[in-house]
Parts: sequence; C-alpha cells; structure tokens
Amino acid sequence: MRGSTFAAFALGFVAGMAVLAGVLWSFGALRTPAGAQPQAAVAAVPQQAAPPQPITLSPAQGEAERSAPEPVPGHPIIPVQGIAASQLTDNFNDRRDGRRHDALDIPAPRGTPVIAAVEGNVVKLFHSKLGGTTVYQFDDSRTYCYYYAHLERYATGLAEGTLLRQAEVLGYVGSTGNAQANAPHLHFEVHKLGPEKKWWQGESLDPLKLLGHGPE
Ligand SMILES: [Zn+2]
Repeated sequence: MRGSTFAAFALGFVAGMAVLAGVLWSFGALRTPAGAQPQAAVAAVPQQAAPPQPITLSPAQGEAERSAPEPVPGHPIIPVQGIAASQLTDNFNDRRDGRRHDALDIPAPRGTPVIAAVEGNVVKLFHSKLGGTTVYQFDDSRTYCYYYAHLERYATGLAEGTLLRQAEVLGYVGSTGNAQANAPHLHFEVHKLGPEKKWWQGESLDPLKLLGHGPE
C-alpha cells in the first residue's frame, strides 16, 4: 500500500511540475515581443561562447594560395579578342608545304589583341623563320604548351617567365614569319608535353576541339 501511494504521489508531483513548466514556458513565449528574432538570439550564443578566431594567414601565405597551380588545366578560350567560335574553321589537317598543318589559323585584322588561352607562364619568346614572332606558354599544370605565332609584336613588358592570366593580352595579330602579308592571322598550336617538358616538343592536339565550348 505504501509503495503505491508513494508512486501516485510521485506521479502527481511530476505531472504538476510538467504543468508548471508548461505555464512558465507559455509566459515566456507570450512575453516575447512580436518583432523579436529568436533565431538571431540563438545565433549570438555561439559567438559569445567561442570568440572569432584571429586570421593567421600572413600576406606571404595568401600570395602562395592565389598563385597555386590548378590541378587540371582550365578550358582554353579563343585566343584572339572578339573572335566567336562560329568564325573558326578547322584547318588542323590541311597540308602545308608537304606536311600536316597541326594548328588552327585564326584570321583577324592586323593589330587585334592576342590573348592567353589559359592561365600559365610564358616559357619562351622566340623569333623563327616560319613562325615569326612567337610565344610559347605552359598551362599552370605544365601539361600543355600553347604556341602563338605570326605576331605583329609582343604586349608591352612581356618576358619569359611572365605569368599570364587567362584572356590577358600577350601580343597582337600580324603576319611575321611565313604568313602572307595581306592575310594576317594567329597561328595557334596546342601540344601535350612529354615528361621532359620541352617547349619545342610535344604531341599536337587540334585546338578547335579544345575550344569547342567557345569563349567564357
Ligand atoms: Zn598556320
């Protein structure tokens, strides 16, 4: 008997506390102003409990992060300013002087800016009999070499080692080398580099296939 009496008392006590808690909670809820932002109040709690961590990145580290190479080469863009994909024709397999062209010719008015197809460093500035004034650029992952030829001239300040951002001007369309003077164009090649990463060696890829998605 005593046991069950105590159980009934305990049950009643618990029920009473629950009702009391409910009443207090209701009061609390009712007393909350209509315009209050309970979520903001909750969000403020962790900030008080754990103050914001000071920024520990030094300027040098920030710079290293910005210039870190991307794991995969970015999509190359059409390397002549103002040229749309619809204006390009595939002449990669054309026969030129008894051998395959292995390049994409992009006709454009003399002096049109030639822009970096991808981000990456200039590895060689070279003047050759066939290519005229040329630029060799590796992408950041050093997987591909991008070759720009028949340039009228280089962009001011361009040097070997210069890091070009994608779409940065590197030179201007011309007809140096063996290009016809009345048909200025950019001769553009893409090479997949071998393990030795030689700027003058590599497997020729059809640039038009890489540019398929058009400019960004
Ligand atoms: Zn060509």
